[in-house]
Amino acid sequence: MADASLPDLLRFYRDLGFTELRAPRISAGTPAPAASKPRPAPALPAAPVMQRKAAPEWNYQPSKKIPAGPDSGNRVPEEILRVIQQDMGECTRCVLHQGRSKIVFGSGNPGAKLVFVGEGPGADEDAQGVPFVGRAGQLLTQMINNTATGEGISIQRDDVYICNVVKCRPPGNRAPEPDEMKTCGQFLDRQLDAIRPRAICVLGGTAAKYLLDTSLGITKLRGEWQDWHGIPVMPTFHPSFLLRAYNKEGKRQAWEDLKKVLHYVYD
Ligand code: URA
Repeated sequence: MADASLPDLLRFYRDLGFTELRAPRISAGTPAPAASKPRPAPALPAAPVMQRKAAPEWNYQPSKKIPAGPDSGNRVPEEILRVIQQDMGECTRCVLHQGRSKIVFGSGNPGAKLVFVGEGPGADEDAQGVPFVGRAGQLLTQMINNTATGEGISIQRDDVYICNVVKCRPPGNRAPEPDEMKTCGQFLDRQLDAIRPRAICVLGGTAAKYLLDTSLGITKLRGEWQDWHGIPVMPTFHPSFLLRAYNKEGKRQAWEDLKKVLHYVYD
């Protein structure tokens, strides 16, 4: 069960508003899914993505281009990410550099099958140079670890990759401006293109706005598969929102979204 003890897990589900839990699918002595049966073909999002694209309210622009970078050839994702980080350098391309302590490029497994995208670093992330390490980050870590464990999926936070649309902390934790996201987003685009995960989980409306080029709010977007250059994207609530609001329903919905992503990627 890696990091999560049973009491932690139960507390997490209680916080999500659940008063009853079914037994996890994996119990001691039960072989892991990969060992017990061949991986079923992912039952996922081709159809929903197509439907969403055709839906009248959906304004995703598939023509959005990933800027050409040196991210080609036979390089493995880890090397490409290194090149992208080098290209970013001690970036001064937008005003956000003025208040930063550290650039928060991204962390986790460069070969990840799942990438989480937030909007931008907060104070803790700015101090440490690592995404999602403050309160919201701790909640995200719990959500990943505990949901995976509860669903019998043997991954933890270190197995995924986590990054943000903007890599420098916006002053006072304000949302990044569209021009800042456009300037810095070229690096996110290249990170995602280097990793080419099986799915992306985008956290909150601001990051979704950039990544999906949509004006729809997160309440409308969440829980439905979207598309980024052929990669399925699951939008869900930002963990800061889940922390801030007395919002059991939001937590339950985020949990449902996360389960959907995890099963799609790892079943
Ligand atoms: N919120 C974000 O969107 N990203 C972080 O890295 C931390 C908090």
